[in-house]
Amino acid sequence: MTSRKFVGAHVSASGGVYNAPLNAKEIGAKAFALFTKNQRQWVAKPLDNETIQKFKQALDASGILPKHVLPHDSYLINLGHPEIEKLEKSRAAFIDELERCDALGLDRLNFHPGSHLAKLTKKQKEDASLLEEIENKCLDVIAESINIALDKTQNVKAVIENTAGQGSNLGYKFEHLAYIIDKVEDKSRVGVCIDTCHMFTAGYDIRTREAYDKTWDEFGKIVGFEYLSGMHINDSKPPLGSKVDRHHSLGKGEIGLDAFKFIMNDERMDDIPLILETIDETIWKDEIALLYSFEKK
Ligand SMILES: [Zn+2]
Ligand SMILES: [Zn+2]
Repeated sequence: MTSRKFVGAHVSASGGVYNAPLNAKEIGAKAFALFTKNQRQWVAKPLDNETIQKFKQALDASGILPKHVLPHDSYLINLGHPEIEKLEKSRAAFIDELERCDALGLDRLNFHPGSHLAKLTKKQKEDASLLEEIENKCLDVIAESINIALDKTQNVKAVIENTAGQGSNLGYKFEHLAYIIDKVEDKSRVGVCIDTCHMFTAGYDIRTREAYDKTWDEFGKIVGFEYLSGMHINDSKPPLGSKVDRHHSLGKGEIGLDAFKFIMNDERMDDIPLILETIDETIWKDEIALLYSFEKK
């Protein structure tokens, strides 16, 4: 039986985006993530024709399909920014990222939803209705940002990543993802990427068969598997529910290997990019092989 899983890692695109497929191939990846520009800068020069052609050729030669490539946007972008000027800057940069993916023939872009940046006191954070009001307001802004961006671009799906809930980052609850999707007008161009580390530190347990099934049942009911467009496969340094975002190598963190065995044998994760963002890139090749070894033949 041939595998229906497409495992890879977030590989380097340094020297040019066309190096990413080669870097992926070298570690035995059947999928990969990349930044299509320097992720710590606002502006990049547009991709020229030669670069685009070189990327398409390298991708073709790697045998990896465009739908198994999950580009990640810049960390500077905050589509829920409370200040209009900075929000506009983020929206423009996000549109540019979508256009870059489209130019490269890629069909999805992974991004973190955004943060409200409000400095809340401990007492305010414990006020559930106040927190929900602040969060929903920000989620509305994020959804509007997505609608604007989708309206101005074509072909590429906006893939919202779940977060650990560190600081004021939203997207740590399945309900946040569902709330945004509900307000996106073109549902055919929105998806989600679930990061196992973020999921776990946000409070969703996946360590045992029972916990795994319960968490993904909840995901199915609240968000829906039709939106699952990719995953980040990471173990976690911090414990369950800690809301801290620190990845670890597979089997070395708090999640442990069983969760990854379940994923590799779960057909709901077939045919989507499964991307390692684990901390030691020198063992990515081994981690990819390890994941494939978990599949029941
Ligand atoms: Zn991630
Ligand atoms: Zn992370």
